[in-house]
Amino acid sequence: VISVQQVTIGGPLPVVIAGPCAVESREQVLNIAQFVKSCGAQILRGGCFKPRTSPYSFQGLGLEGLHYLHEAGKKFDLPIITEVMSPEDVDVVAEYADILQIGSRNMQNFPLLKKVGTTRRPIMLKRGFMATIDEWLSSAEYILAMGNSQVILCERGIRTFESATRNTLDISAVAVIHERSHLPIIIDPSHASGNWRYIPQLAKAAIAVGAAGIMVEVHPSPKSALSDGPQALKYPTFRTLMENIAGIPYVMH
Ligand code: PEP
Ligand code: MN
Repeated sequence: VISVQQVTIGGPLPVVIAGPCAVESREQVLNIAQFVKSCGAQILRGGCFKPRTSPYSFQGLGLEGLHYLHEAGKKFDLPIITEVMSPEDVDVVAEYADILQIGSRNMQNFPLLKKVGTTRRPIMLKRGFMATIDEWLSSAEYILAMGNSQVILCERGIRTFESATRNTLDISAVAVIHERSHLPIIIDPSHASGNWRYIPQLAKAAIAVGAAGIMVEVHPSPKSALSDGPQALKYPTFRTLMENIAGIPYVMH
C-alpha cells in the first residue's frame, strides 16, 4: 500500500488519476485540475517531457510545464504524477512531482530505472507495449533493488495483431499480478484503447477486476489537444464515468 499525501494506492478503495496527456499551458492545467477535482479524482496527471513517436510532434513544455502542474496540484490539493524520460531529469522532477512515471517506451531503460530507484518518490512503472509480465516485473525489481520499495505498476495495453484499438488492454495482467506480486496495479484505458468511446467500459472493467485504480486522460477540447486528442475524455463524459464507477462493487486484493 502506497500513500501519497492523503491518497492511498492499493488500499480499500480504487483511485482515479486524471488529467491531460500533456501540460499545454498554465490555464489549461489549472482548468483541468479544478474540473477533475470537482468530480472526485484524487491524483492529477500531466505530461511535461513527452515521448512522441515523431520528433516533429509537440514534445511537451518540459520544466515550465512541471511548474504549472505543481501549481495546479497545490491549488486544488491533488498530488501530481508526471513522466520522467532521462536520468538527468530525475532529481528535478522528483523535487516537484509526488509520483514519477516511467513510460511504456522506457520500461527497460535500466539506467533510468536505477536512478528513480534512488529517489524517495513512488514510481509508477508502465508496462512496455511489447513486454511480457515477467519482463515488466524484472524492471520493477530494478527499482526495488535500488532501495525504493514504492512501485506502482500500470497496465496500458500491449501491441497485438488487433488494429481496431491503439493497443490491446491486457485485463488478465491484473489477475496475474495479483497472484505474483504484492505491488499495486493501475489500469490506463486511455493509452490501451486510443479512443475515448471505449474508455468508460474499460475503466469499469478495471474496477471490477480489482485494479488499484485507473488513469485517464481528460481535455476540455480534445480536437485542439496537442497530443492524444482522440483518446481524451471531454468533461461531461469524465463526470458520468466518475458517477458510474462509484457504483461498481470493488474487492481489494
Ligand atoms: C503517458 O501516460 O503519458 C504515456 C505517454 O503513456 P505510455 O508511456 O503508456 O505510452
Ligand atoms: Mn497520452
